[in-house]
Amino acid sequence: MVDDRAAGIAAFIEPLRVEPGTKVHLAEDFDPGYKAGIRKKKEGVELLRGGIELLADYQRRLAAQDTYGVLVCLQALDAGGKDGTIRHVMSGVNPQGVSVSSFKVPSDEELDHDYLWRYACRLPRRGEIGIFNRSHYEEVLVVRVHPENLERQKLPEAARGPDVWERRYREINQWERYLTDNGFKVVKLFLNLSKEEQRARFLKRIDVPERNWKFSAADVRERARWDDYQRAFSQMLSATSTQWAPWYVIPADHKWFGRVCAAAVLGHTLIEIDPQYPQVSDRTRRDLAKVRRELERQAPEGAASDPYAESAGKPKKRGRSGGKG
Ligand code: ATP
Ligand code: MG
Repeated sequence: MVDDRAAGIAAFIEPLRVEPGTKVHLAEDFDPGYKAGIRKKKEGVELLRGGIELLADYQRRLAAQDTYGVLVCLQALDAGGKDGTIRHVMSGVNPQGVSVSSFKVPSDEELDHDYLWRYACRLPRRGEIGIFNRSHYEEVLVVRVHPENLERQKLPEAARGPDVWERRYREINQWERYLTDNGFKVVKLFLNLSKEEQRARFLKRIDVPERNWKFSAADVRERARWDDYQRAFSQMLSATSTQWAPWYVIPADHKWFGRVCAAAVLGHTLIEIDPQYPQVSDRTRRDLAKVRRELERQAPEGAASDPYAESAGKPKKRGRSGGKG
């Protein structure tokens, strides 16, 4: 049953995976409107509910085992739905086991360090799921599309040459390899939005007063660089989808479907980790039994020696001997 479910999830996410070593042309290879044949949003919502439960269960085990950590990198174009994806997909998990870090234009302090420094500072702990809302991939996306960002990074001459992007791809791959080898799985999701759906979402941000705060003129300026971003995304996906940390291109035109996919990819990773609750030794178990007997002896007059056993249908009242009579 569990294996069937795992196989179903693996098959569901397979078309979204960027096969390591292949060359991606986003526009031709991945359809932002793909729905895997699911016609009704209601069906998708049902699937998402199942996914959220699965994530909650696995996250409890991940935290209890305290050996592996998971880093989720979320990349998208503006209005791609990063915030909504985080809100919905993580809605069932214990907030204590999750951290979310959003990366904006780097601060002076951040620019005083190497380009991966600020991301390394926000990595999840063991037992935790860390979400990067934008990630180290901005260093080969916005920084590439707007080279003035590279100028601000105070790099030595030799590190600014034309090979800078190839070198960054290699360094990022190696960094992720290092993290994976040390127990931190890296899950990479690119929310793939169509240009037309982005236009519709921007219009909604203008028309719906509750969404006005989300509208940014800068986003519309970035839209003018659509083709440059598509190229940068395609090159990034081609160069940094690896066996240890593959990219998944999430169809994002239907928000509900994108969320199902994001939950499925994260679920797949947790299933692969298969975290287990720690087992106690026989000796500890014997000590626990001793403590249990002592706690039962401490039950007050008339109270169940074990109220939980009672509520589970096994009444175990302590006798009235020694009472007032
Ligand atoms: P929201 O949904 O709130 O708009 P957001 O992630 O778009 O979320 P913003 O504050 O609107 O947040 O934008 C952050 C900006 O920071 C983006 O334009 C992004 O490209 C930019 N940014 C992120 N990392 C870097 C970087 N390393 N160098 C330069 N700009 C960066
Ligand atoms: Mg923004």
